Amino acid sequence: KERTKEEILALAEEMNVRYVRLQFTDLLGIIKNVEIPVDQLAKALDNKIMFDGSSIEGFVRIEESDMYLVPDRSTWLVFPWDSSQGKVARLICDIYLPGGQAFEGDPRIVLKRVMERAHQAGFSAFNVGPEPEFFLFKLDAEGRPTQEVNDEGGYFDWAPLDLGENCRREIVLTLEAMGFEIEASHHEVAPGQHEIDFKYADALEAADNIATFRLVVKTIARQYGLHATFMPKPVYGINGSGMHCHQSLFRNQQNAFYDETDELGLSEIAKHYLAGLMQHAQAFTAICNPTVNSYKRLVPGYEAPSYVAWSAKNRSPLVRVPAARGSSTRIELRSPDPSCNPYLALAVMLASGLDGIEKKLPLALPVNRNIYIMTEEEKIAAGIQSLPGSLGEAIEVLAKDSVLREALGDHVFHHFIEAKRIEWSMYRMQVTEWEREQYLLNY
Ligand code: GLU
Ligand code: MG
Ligand code: MG
Repeated sequence: KERTKEEILALAEEMNVRYVRLQFTDLLGIIKNVEIPVDQLAKALDNKIMFDGSSIEGFVRIEESDMYLVPDRSTWLVFPWDSSQGKVARLICDIYLPGGQAFEGDPRIVLKRVMERAHQAGFSAFNVGPEPEFFLFKLDAEGRPTQEVNDEGGYFDWAPLDLGENCRREIVLTLEAMGFEIEASHHEVAPGQHEIDFKYADALEAADNIATFRLVVKTIARQYGLHATFMPKPVYGINGSGMHCHQSLFRNQQNAFYDETDELGLSEIAKHYLAGLMQHAQAFTAICNPTVNSYKRLVPGYEAPSYVAWSAKNRSPLVRVPAARGSSTRIELRSPDPSCNPYLALAVMLASGLDGIEKKLPLALPVNRNIYIMTEEEKIAAGIQSLPGSLGEAIEVLAKDSVLREALGDHVFHHFIEAKRIEWSMYRMQVTEWEREQYLLNY
């Protein structure tokens, strides 16, 4: 909701706000904030709060480190949990340079720029409904996360004091108090794993919501003596955590993906958009699945995709077209995981889809069979490609994609690739427990 400076100042006073967090995310999607006492709020709303960008991952070098936080007044929110020093509020900010230009390394600004392209192409909204999954682990006596889930008893554990269920309920109540509309919340397939789905929103708000959601989940979990993690594959041998993204483009309040005269009920725009997603899927994997660990989730057998294919019938491929039509017509991309930077992830999805629309890319045939039981020859014959098998592979595919480079802008593109090449090469040098178990005795 858009608010004026005066309205926000009045609300802060009315609600006894003592501190305000000026929130943004770094290149890797980690929430950063500058906390100010409420008497600095007027100054913040005049865009006069500065911070040192050189200490933020993927931002800038020391010599050009002064940056300004420009609050988005529609993001004003008072955190519902109590703090002994009074209430804490937050504003999500864009980052500007001293000269007054928007900082091209700010992920939120990257997303805004791609959304602007969608507006230019005649679309009024890019609606995204995310389905983030996460695990709850117990804390040890020192408050450090363990690998122990609290509901290992099995799917039908009806223990009255299931910390996980109570914690999830409290998360939902807190999110609702913060204005989220929760559509569903349930226990996921793996022990200790949960999913909370919230209502779709236009991409910028959806990305803000994902960032806020992760913060809320972690905060409430702590209050229950649990650690919430969005790490994509925290435990070997059971399902990992994904963040499926349902998406659609709107034009004049109408869903541009729907066409009642089409056999599948999908418009040409939807088909080109989907073709664009498939065309760039291997390249945007690095952004949507940005950690070494992400690739341990994208393997057969755990309900996560590992091939580039779509289907309206099958739930397992990269892209699924859910049965709903009319204004709910949408495409579900199933590869993203919740460790991604939501701003960059939504930016590359949208840019890929728009590229499909602009170039009128043809849509491949759907794959309605179970890809996992097809032979290698059958997959090749059907033209089904694999998603990258590792972060190292994914980064090199991204490095060659000029459409995504343009979408991300040179600053983010280069800094992201550089940071991730370092992460990958550090990982490659590790000697793991698995290797010692396999080789120490045998060789
Ligand atoms: N946890 C699965 C994944 O890694 C998704 C399960 C589901 O279909 O919700 O993507
Ligand atoms: Mg799920
Ligand atoms: Mg789903």
